[in-house]
Amino acid sequence: MARKALGITLLVLVASSGCTFLDALGPNVQARGPGAAYDSYLAEAETVVVEIDHAPGALWDEDTPAEEQFVDELERVTAAEIEIRVDEELPEQGEDYAYALGELRDLHAERQDTEVANDTEVMHVLFLDGRFAQEGTLGLSFDTRAFALFKGEIRDSTCENDAPVCQLPCPDDEVVCERKATPATREWKVTRAVGIHEAGHLLGLVNSPLPMVQDHEMSEDPEPDTPAQENRSHSSNESSVMWWQLDSAADIREIGEGGEVPWRFGEQDVADARAIQAEG
Ligand SMILES: [Zn+2]
Repeated sequence: MARKALGITLLVLVASSGCTFLDALGPNVQARGPGAAYDSYLAEAETVVVEIDHAPGALWDEDTPAEEQFVDELERVTAAEIEIRVDEELPEQGEDYAYALGELRDLHAERQDTEVANDTEVMHVLFLDGRFAQEGTLGLSFDTRAFALFKGEIRDSTCENDAPVCQLPCPDDEVVCERKATPATREWKVTRAVGIHEAGHLLGLVNSPLPMVQDHEMSEDPEPDTPAQENRSHSSNESSVMWWQLDSAADIREIGEGGEVPWRFGEQDVADARAIQAEG
């Protein structure tokens, strides 16, 4: 019974979650935050090293094309070669452990080994086994060069592995019934989509602060009664990986129709990147 109650609470709370620390603060541009190094990533670097530190067992599924497609998408928008470097194994915390923002910042400060150099940029990625303090958060870009993926939360969002939300009975709860009817999106596909989405925030996509050739930032806050502004930094193009619902566990279940979620940058995202590359 306890697990069922947890599942219901999750459905209610996740609606307010955002996927960038920026979202929580409001403004699109921060001196030191996701997007602050956009020109360096998109136009100046010849190589972007993606340094991955991970909890035991929390990484790409090697039987799938997830890692390769993550690289391909980043190479599609940057002018750089993307080099994945799987680095340290982090302490195991368990899939129910909730990381605070301060812990993420500490891990980033202590564990990033690759240095930013003349032609080399770095993306520091934490593949964590648990969740973020704000329930329902699948991924979070939280610094200029860092984002985290929460594999415990991602696992539960997919209806694989007997996630509690998938076992709920649904006599009266229409929302839950609908979700039960939706084929499960595979865990690796959610990991791929959320990873590319968070990388997109570090690249400054969707006006944050990379300028837009053609306006494609969502004009209205899709959930106006919540503190997060899900529209900021997110695309109005539903087929772009920068679509706002890549933010949260509940939303990804909603858009996971046919087991697919968008995982590629939209045409407008690519056009914005090309424009700044052409300036250089
Ligand atoms: Zn986002």
